[in-house]
Amino acid sequence: MANVYRKQKGSDTWHFCRNCSNWPTSNYDERYIKPNSGELCNQCKDKEKLGNCH
Ligand SMILES: [Zn+2]
Repeated sequence: MANVYRKQKGSDTWHFCRNCSNWPTSNYDERYIKPNSGELCNQCKDKEKLGNCH
């Protein structure tokens, strides 16, 4: 499964679960590889741990 990483412009938190409540839908940067700068969203990390990251 290809992960997509999105970050709201002006933020340095990357999201990788489309069901994250903070998933950016406009005005975002997108990457297809794990970003090497910024932070990963804690909510996304929790979802991944629970197997609930879509
Ligand atoms: Zn997130």
